[in-house]
Amino acid sequence: MVNFNIPPYVGEEINYINEAIKGHKICGDGPFTKQCNTWLEKKFHAQKVLLTTSGTTALDMALLLCQLNPGDEVILPSYTFSSTATAPVLAGAKLVFVDIRPDTMNIDETKIEAAITDKTRVIIPVHYAGVACEMDSIMEIAKRYNLLVVEDAAQGVMSSYKGKALGTIGDFGCYSFHETKNYSMGEGGAIVINNEIYNERAEILREKGTNRSKFYRGQIDKYTWIDFGDSYLPSELNAAYLWAQLLKADEINNNRLDSWNKYYKAFEPLAKQNIISLPYVPEQCQHNAHMFYIKCKCIEERTKLTEFLKMGGGICSISLYSAA
Ligand SMILES: *Cc1c(COP(=O)(O)O)cnc(C)c1O
Repeated sequence: MVNFNIPPYVGEEINYINEAIKGHKICGDGPFTKQCNTWLEKKFHAQKVLLTTSGTTALDMALLLCQLNPGDEVILPSYTFSSTATAPVLAGAKLVFVDIRPDTMNIDETKIEAAITDKTRVIIPVHYAGVACEMDSIMEIAKRYNLLVVEDAAQGVMSSYKGKALGTIGDFGCYSFHETKNYSMGEGGAIVINNEIYNERAEILREKGTNRSKFYRGQIDKYTWIDFGDSYLPSELNAAYLWAQLLKADEINNNRLDSWNKYYKAFEPLAKQNIISLPYVPEQCQHNAHMFYIKCKCIEERTKLTEFLKMGGGICSISLYSAA
C-alpha cells in the first residue's frame, strides 16, 4: 500500500512543543515563530518571512498587500488549488485564467501576455508539484506591464529556479506547511516579502490591524489599531512542530528526492512505451519531490488504474520520510 501522504514527523517535535508550554508562551510570535522566520530568511536569502496560519492566508495577505481596486484583474493558471483564486476574490479582484503547459502543468508563460488588459495588476504563478514556472519570462512580462507577481509556492518550499529559492523571485511568495506539504506544522504557512516597502503594512495586517509588532520591538510605547487587519499568526505550538522539521529540512528533502527518483525509474519503461507520461523537470529547476504524478492517456484508463490501485493491486511500498 502506498499512502497518498504521511504527515512528516522527525521525532523532536514533541520536545519543542513541551518547551513552548513550559515557557508559558503558546500564542503567536514567540521564540519558535521567530526562529522559523529567521531560518527561512537565511536559508532562502529572503528579505522577510512571516509565518501565517496557512498557505491560504499567506496568499490572502499577499493579495491584500497588493492594494487592489474593484475591477482590477489578476492572472492565474486554470489548473491550481482553490486558494490561488479565493485570495484575489477576497481582495476584490476579477480572475483571469490562463491555460497551463502540459509538460510541467504550470502556467503557460507564452499565453500570459494575451490575457493582459489595462486592468491587470497581478500575476500569480503556481509552482505545481514544486517545479518552478518559467520565472524569467514571467518577471520580464511583469516588469514591462508594471504588474506585481505573487508566487504561489505552497508546494515549492526548498525548490529553486536558476539557483533562486521559489517564493523569493516575485514581489511576494506564499508557502504552505499543511499536513500534506513537505514540511508541516499541521496547519500553517508563510508569506515571503521581497520588497521592504511592504514590511510594515504586512506586520499590521497580520496583527489585527495594530502596530503591536513595533511595540514589542520597543519602537513605540503603546500599541493601537491603525489599519485594516486580520489575525494571521499561528500558535507557538504549531511553530514548535515546524521548527523540528526545518532543522531536518535537507534530510527530508533528500529522502523525498530518493523516493521520487525510485518512482521515476520504476515507471520509465511504461513512459518509453507511451503508456503513461511522467513529470518533466526543466534543466533550470531544482525540485523538492513534492509530488509524484503520472498522466494516463484518457479518463477511462485513469479510472481503471485508480480502481486497480484502490484494490491494493500489485504496487509495492516505497515509503516517504516519516518516523511513523
Ligand atoms: C496547499 C496549497 C495551498 C493552500 O495551502 P494551505 O496551507 O492548505 O492553506 C495553496 N496553493 C497551492 C498550490 C497548494 O498546493
